[in-house]
Amino acid sequence: MNEHPTTSAASASGASPGKASRLQAVRGMNDVLPDDAPLWEYFEDTARSVFAQYGYRNIRVPIVEPTALFVRGIGEYTDVVEKEMYSFEDKLNGESLTLRPEATSGIVRAALEHDLLYQRPQRVWTTGPMFRHERPQKGRYRQFHQMDAEALGYAGPDVDAEQIVMLARLWRVLGLTGIGLRINSIGNAGERAAHRRALVAYFERHADLLDADARRRLHANPLRILDSKNPALQSMLAAAPKLIDFIEDDSRAHFEALQRHLVDAGLDFTIDARLVRGLDYYNRTVFEWIDDSGALGAQGTVAGGGRYDALFEILGGKPSFACGFAIGIERMILLLAAVGVRAAPAPVAYVVHTGDAAGVLARAVAEQARDAGMALVVNAGGGSMKAQMKRADASGAAYALIIGDDEVHAAAVAIKPLRGGGEQFAVPVNDAAARLAALTR
Ligand code: ATP
Ligand code: MG
Repeated sequence: MNEHPTTSAASASGASPGKASRLQAVRGMNDVLPDDAPLWEYFEDTARSVFAQYGYRNIRVPIVEPTALFVRGIGEYTDVVEKEMYSFEDKLNGESLTLRPEATSGIVRAALEHDLLYQRPQRVWTTGPMFRHERPQKGRYRQFHQMDAEALGYAGPDVDAEQIVMLARLWRVLGLTGIGLRINSIGNAGERAAHRRALVAYFERHADLLDADARRRLHANPLRILDSKNPALQSMLAAAPKLIDFIEDDSRAHFEALQRHLVDAGLDFTIDARLVRGLDYYNRTVFEWIDDSGALGAQGTVAGGGRYDALFEILGGKPSFACGFAIGIERMILLLAAVGVRAAPAPVAYVVHTGDAAGVLARAVAEQARDAGMALVVNAGGGSMKAQMKRADASGAAYALIIGDDEVHAAAVAIKPLRGGGEQFAVPVNDAAARLAALTR
């Protein structure tokens, strides 16, 4: 069947639909299949409930935003804006649009558009796909998913620390023990300007060592050179002027208070003076959580975040405060799979039935059990008793409910344990749901 002629070259040319070439997903954009989805749901449900424990409420913003939002918000000379954005022209009105590479800019846009901070600050979270045109590899994709939390309108550092503590709790609840915390302060705009002048002077003294990327950024965004992954630059970068040495009293006090909060919460952390993060809008607090187990290969950073007080003004709003983070869900799933977390919610029972009258009874019994909150799969598409029992087994269900001619005549249902032994037994139809509930309680 091919109801969409535009998707099939073969049907357009009049050949039989069976000859149509098969289409594939866009490179770097993945399907999450039903066998893998339970781990995603487990992670997302767990994160949602931990975030709710800290008063974070859900916000949902569009996947497509005006390109200018990200150019202004994330910054023109960042990797994301320079080379990773999926931007396109809206054919109907010529507007430049972009598939969101991150969620923070959209959330701040929404907060300003709806005056969300008018009466009180807001703790919010969101989740969904993000898009960056990167080279696909393990833990790095072109469509990937983030779980994102933002505390809008809070000056911190209490809320910065609370987010870090919240993430530590999430790792604990998920049973992930090898994720380490790195923090840094990148000060305020004035402090960064002083550091930047020193940095440019330092890089100019080492101009012969700079690669093309670094040279291009030298005056546009020298801070980003510190983020370079080029091995040839590393020793020169290690000796570069450190931002932390340019940070003055207020920012320093903020950073020290953050550290006290973390110590009070019993968290271990490393101060990483070179941690600057890839987006321009950060100030003061920045942090990353990095998996040390090696399970993620080169892509060890599972979550990153920080403070972005300036973003409100950059996007045309009144000055405000905010701190947020994003977790890379694909990397989380890889980690959870590596430590052997399995989450496969199976139905309580698979309902096997042969004959028309048995079918009617089977569907009625299944509805009664669902009324009691249970999950059941009713065999569909017919099949012999033997074939149906095979499907029952493959479904992962704990029980098979069997209804054949004998059961119809006796107004009974046979309950057969599928796991861990136990004899098959019969119960009156009207007791079936209650018995099943009692068995699985
Ligand atoms: P990286 O240095 O790995 O490119 P980043 O600093 O660009 O990360 P952020 O913008 O901080 O990443 O996004 C937060 C998290 O989202 C990252 O720590 C990572 O777990 C995840 N992430 C970012 N880009 C990708 C991607 N292309 N594919 C999968 N996950 C990603
Ligand atoms: Mg990146």
